Amino acid sequence: MHLSLNTVTVKERWGLADCIEGCARHGITGIAPWRDVLQAMGVDAAAKRIRDAGLVVTGLCRGGMFPAADAAGRAAAIEDNRRAIHEAHTIGARCLVMVCGGLPLGSKDLPAAREQVREGLHAILPEARAAGVTIALEPLHPMTCADRSVLSTLGQALDLCDELDEGTGVALDVYHVWWDPDLARQVARAGKRIAAFHVCDWKVPTTDTVFDRGIPGEGCIDIPAIRAMVTQAGYTGGFAEVEVLSKRWWAEDPDMVLPLLKQRIATSV
Ligand code: ZN
Repeated sequence: MHLSLNTVTVKERWGLADCIEGCARHGITGIAPWRDVLQAMGVDAAAKRIRDAGLVVTGLCRGGMFPAADAAGRAAAIEDNRRAIHEAHTIGARCLVMVCGGLPLGSKDLPAAREQVREGLHAILPEARAAGVTIALEPLHPMTCADRSVLSTLGQALDLCDELDEGTGVALDVYHVWWDPDLARQVARAGKRIAAFHVCDWKVPTTDTVFDRGIPGEGCIDIPAIRAMVTQAGYTGGFAEVEVLSKRWWAEDPDMVLPLLKQRIATSV
């Protein structure tokens, strides 16, 4: 598989312009920007730069965050997702990655939060379909259920895809799904609905639930086994998107990190 650089991997050192130039310098053909760096450059200008560089945009990170304590908050989230759909369309992203959101602050009502995610997705689906932007539901590890995603398993994401149907898929991130005893069955079930394949690694011990990811090969995830499942299921996207949120790796020079990631794609993915 080819490497796609998720911009969060080098976020402490590089803005989007640096990432685009760095991909060219290191022979990397895919990119997945986060919305903050995209907006910092300006969406139209970024779209042109990415197009001129010939980069495949494997995804835009991220939409979602639907649950909120009140109706105004939920409406604001839906509006923000509509802007994200427009941005994804403008840069030609293969998908808009959805981090669906956790419990509203102070709430213990998990079923209600899940229902708010469902309603939010239904609300934005017409715009996504009209724009030709695939909504890629990314299940997140259950340790994030309180604050980032009440969507926790691939099976749960696929149930939502079954319901939402056209214009939806899943973003499969090995960090979030590797532990799932039902993974093989659910990846096979996902089939061509796998819109993005994210790689990094689970370090032992993990010292931070968000910012201590490893690069592929650094941890305990059998990434080649998951990659085989994904390929077998029908993922033809050709890219493994490296998404490493890590204080340790953020401290390194990206011009050292990118060649290492290329090597790890070849040896550890
Ligand atoms: Zn991811």
